[in-house]
Amino acid sequence: MTARPLGTEVSCDGPDEDTDCPDSAAVRAAFTSMTAPQVRADGRRDGWVVRRRDGHIRDLCLACRLAS
Ligand SMILES: [Zn+2]
Repeated sequence: MTARPLGTEVSCDGPDEDTDCPDSAAVRAAFTSMTAPQVRADGRRDGWVVRRRDGHIRDLCLACRLAS
């Protein structure tokens, strides 16, 4: 399996279920990051966090992490 999508975008799910991220933030992926876990790892370097809420993984950008 060599075919891969050209880039993976991880968008902010914050600050909560009913509110969209005010900045519509998305992780800035490193050039070598192709998979969602890799992109999330890039995000964590920028202050993103991953939380589990009701069985779902929620990606929160730095602004939403501080707001919630
Ligand atoms: Zn956000």
